[in-house]
Amino acid sequence: MQIKSAEFIVSNSEVSKCPSEHIPEYAFIGRSNVGKSSLINMITGRNKLAKTSGTPGKTQLINHFKINKNWFLVDLPGYGYARVSKSTKKEFQSFITDYFKQRKALVCTFVLVDSRHTPQKIDVEFMEFLAENEIPFVIIFTKTDKLKPKAITQNIAKYEAEMLKEKFEYFPTYFTSSSANKNGKDDILNFIDSINKD
Ligand code: GDP
Repeated sequence: MQIKSAEFIVSNSEVSKCPSEHIPEYAFIGRSNVGKSSLINMITGRNKLAKTSGTPGKTQLINHFKINKNWFLVDLPGYGYARVSKSTKKEFQSFITDYFKQRKALVCTFVLVDSRHTPQKIDVEFMEFLAENEIPFVIIFTKTDKLKPKAITQNIAKYEAEMLKEKFEYFPTYFTSSSANKNGKDDILNFIDSINKD
């Protein structure tokens, strides 16, 4: 897929205020600093579409971008646990969980995970939340330029083992990416294109 246009539409912290237009929506999410903004800029070929961590005033907002006038790319904030009160069950921030439970046009979510790290509990728990709510998702292992190919393969295998040990019956589809050398761009865009054409 060629990116012919990429327009910022709106930022907000309430799902009810997200755009009402029903076009396919693809969300990008991960822990803060995973490389999400850099990845969004890399795949759209727009250096400043998403604000990278160096940008002051980066806030916890749901950002909608319209791509090629026919689908939304959604930049979601880095997730964290909301405060746990009486219940012992950890919960993610409500505006993030509301987004996933309410956004009907959401087609697929890209969960970004840093390829340098061993499986992190919060990432696995977030994917469990998506699976429990039947939200389709795939994984993107980011920053692969920082590792040798063998180490990337080993870390992905550790992720697979950890997820299968938890509640997952199979390992999700995954991509690898590097915003530094543009690895993953075509695979991710072709994946979106193939779903949009179905
Ligand atoms: P976000 O908080 O998830 O949006 O992360 P950013 O895109 O702002 O990136 C966080 C930091 O990681 C910045 O210093 C980026 O320059 C760096 N970074 C992001 N992606 C890559 C990558 O693919 N390779 C390398 N080497 N650094 C990256």
